[in-house]
Amino acid sequence: MSGERQPVHTGGCQCGAVRYALLAEPADPHICHCRMCQKAFGSFFAPLTGVAQTDFALTRGALAIFRSSDLAERGFCANCGTPLTFHYVDSPRIAVAIGSLDHPELVPPRMQYGTEARMPWFPETGLSSATTEDDMAPERYAAIRSSNHQHPDHDTDAWPPREARR
Ligand SMILES: [Zn+2]
Ligand SMILES: [Zn+2]
Repeated sequence: MSGERQPVHTGGCQCGAVRYALLAEPADPHICHCRMCQKAFGSFFAPLTGVAQTDFALTRGALAIFRSSDLAERGFCANCGTPLTFHYVDSPRIAVAIGSLDHPELVPPRMQYGTEARMPWFPETGLSSATTEDDMAPERYAAIRSSNHQHPDHDTDAWPPREARR
């Protein structure tokens, strides 16, 4: 971590083996209801907010990484499993899980994405909405779908899967 820059936010995983600092106010705080975020967080949605990678500093430990598609890396604590980061491999930015901040109440979500997979009972939030498909260029959406490393939503005979892609 650079000497003079003061963290705007600090956070980390449930067990504390991984700690990080955000050196700038994060942008685009949102919840993502997409099926991949649901699985990655074991939840109904993922709460995420992003900074430039140069404004993200690990202050203890290291992230374990799962490549959820050829385009995306999801960082987590290998010791306790807390989901911590989301990063498009071609992007200079990185998002952190808002719930992993030491003060998540300071970063309320302003958008919701991935609404194609939003739980039907999820209450109206008043947040503006976008589906995953609407939120990105068609080629990018296709590239994520065709390189999806997420297991399908049913039992399979073999793992690692030979053809787990939908
Ligand atoms: Zn941990
Ligand atoms: Zn998502």
